[in-house]
Amino acid sequence: MQTGKIGVTTENIFPIIKKFLYSDHEIFLRELISNAVDATQKLKTIASAGDFKGEVGDLTIRVSVDKKKKTIRVSDSGVGMTADEIDKYLNQIAFSSANDFLDKYKDQANSIIGHFGLGFYSSFMVSDKVEVISRSWNEPAQAVKWVCDGSPEYQIAETEKENRGTDVILYIDKDSKEFLEEDRIEQLLKKYCKFLPVEIAFGKEKEWKDGKYVDTEKDKIINNTRPAWTLKPADLKDEDYRNFYRELYPMGEEPLFNIHLNVDYPFKLTGILYFPKIKSNIEIQKNKIQLYCNQVFVTDSVEGIVPEFLTLLHGVLDSPDIPLNVSRSYLQSDTNVKKISAHITKKVADRLNEIFRKDREEFEKKWDSLKLFIDYGMITEEKFYEKASKFALFKNTEDKFFTFDEYEKLIKENQTDRNKTLVYLYSTNKTDQYTYIEKARNKGYDILHLDGQLDVHLINHLETKFKDSRFVRVDSDVIDKLIQKEDQKESKLTKDRQDDIRGVFNLKMTSKEVFNVVTETLDENDAPVIITQSEFMRRMKEMSQIGGGMNFYGELPDSYNIVVNLNHPLILRIADDLQEKAGERLTENNSERNRLKDEISFMENEHKKKKAEEISQFEKDDLEKLRKELETCENARKDILGSYGTENKVVKQLIDLALLANNMLRGEELGTFVRRSVELL
Ligand code: ADP
Repeated sequence: MQTGKIGVTTENIFPIIKKFLYSDHEIFLRELISNAVDATQKLKTIASAGDFKGEVGDLTIRVSVDKKKKTIRVSDSGVGMTADEIDKYLNQIAFSSANDFLDKYKDQANSIIGHFGLGFYSSFMVSDKVEVISRSWNEPAQAVKWVCDGSPEYQIAETEKENRGTDVILYIDKDSKEFLEEDRIEQLLKKYCKFLPVEIAFGKEKEWKDGKYVDTEKDKIINNTRPAWTLKPADLKDEDYRNFYRELYPMGEEPLFNIHLNVDYPFKLTGILYFPKIKSNIEIQKNKIQLYCNQVFVTDSVEGIVPEFLTLLHGVLDSPDIPLNVSRSYLQSDTNVKKISAHITKKVADRLNEIFRKDREEFEKKWDSLKLFIDYGMITEEKFYEKASKFALFKNTEDKFFTFDEYEKLIKENQTDRNKTLVYLYSTNKTDQYTYIEKARNKGYDILHLDGQLDVHLINHLETKFKDSRFVRVDSDVIDKLIQKEDQKESKLTKDRQDDIRGVFNLKMTSKEVFNVVTETLDENDAPVIITQSEFMRRMKEMSQIGGGMNFYGELPDSYNIVVNLNHPLILRIADDLQEKAGERLTENNSERNRLKDEISFMENEHKKKKAEEISQFEKDDLEKLRKELETCENARKDILGSYGTENKVVKQLIDLALLANNMLRGEELGTFVRRSVELL
């Protein structure tokens, strides 16, 4: 028997390992099984090269738990190790590499996420003692047993072992008892080892016999050694892809389609990505992309490894070229990772393009489920936008689909305004905005249906991409101004009388919204009063609601314009009636107002000629008094107009009709409207 001391300078290396890898203790099993798989693969290689002449035999890796002895055992029939090899790999190399590793990352504990690198020694995270019993493939071989209790001291001795290969036996420490539960081990095996390339047996298949489940002779194999992504696409049918999807996500809804990735150069990457049906919200994805390294599960949080929009996809990526023993911030700047990201983005875009070209009808059918994903990609990834802008679709309010180019051609002629800006009209709700859509259609305009979650962001983005173009919702202005082609019409009313009309319609509204009265000279056949909502304000508000960072706008109440059509006969009639009922008072008020304004501007001019200290208090008070009087006079005018407006049932009726057309008249206000309508009839 030989005893020795492992070449480690730091006495307390194990406590450090334990501490660093604290959150990830469970990976010990993945590490041991990976080593067993490697040893098995090596044997296969040696055998197929003809260097190993013996019987390869059963290569199944066996995992077992002995609750009484408090041990976990992992046995393989791989290459095994001689005493010299154990000394070299376990005592010297592994320990020293662990030491190097710790030296290097001492200052950045966070960067050690426990993914690989410590391999075999991670078993000390959960064990008081580890035994390795191994017998090399290279006959004649003497089996050896290595024992280490976690201190740098180890023992190595000759022992008996019938078969080739290695058994690693962990004596589980008292803090890690959970790993003595079969269920827990099975869960870990399913998590990390589900697709390993060598069969892994854990216990026996059970059968129902005499009223209970009993073990059969048959090993329970927990993994699929040839998962779909490792096979050639030519050998797989649609059904195989669907079956594999179900293997990954037993509860998942059928995906739309898939992409099989297979890259050899300049990095290695295989995998299958699935497009799920994404309906409304960007919900937290339950079925995440799983990342593997040579069929060993590593993680299902791929953020930072693939662009964010791709995390909406499902499936598997497998690459030995993604460095996994480093932090995420490092990953994001890693050139390999960047290349892989770019490659996946390109493949995804190419695949979508292919489906679009091959079967546009099918693509259109699936569009609603794809839209969110494609929009998200276009908004966030420039490279994706470049490709996707060729196959992304617009849907109009008649449910017809167009590519961006097709749509531009469709509206170019009729929807270019006098400033040569191409105006894209859209509706977010075909029912609520019905009257506006109708009006726009009557003008021969086409209206897009943009009711998706990301559409506000998308149109902002498209406005930066499309030359000389803007998007406006159909109800954001009166029809003549949505796409303004000619100059404003003349009004028959003087400026003062136009102002009076504004005052008449400036009634107190009971609702929470803010209303702002504006007058326009529209066609006399247009509605007398129209409600519109400013595109800019509404969009800012919507953006802030879905997290655009503009909180200021989010806090504001909804604001609308009450547009009064000065050329409508009903409005002209109101203007005349106002003149009749309150004309005298208004004229009086007007001359008083003009007198005060003149005096104020005269005095202000006088003051401007002097230096500040030359103006006497008396003069200042005088000006202040005049300003107060003007305010009083203006308020008096507002009162005249306001009370006229309140008493005139037609005014309120016209506003209510406009609100009604906009689906904004509800509850009590609707009731009042109905009663008033009956009275007026
Ligand atoms: P890594 O696997 O990253 O090389 P480990 O610390 O896990 O690091 O293992 C060190 C070495 O010990 C391995 O490279 C391998 O040569 C040897 N080894 C570990 N486990 C086994 C095993 N089950 N069979 C044969 N050799 C093994």
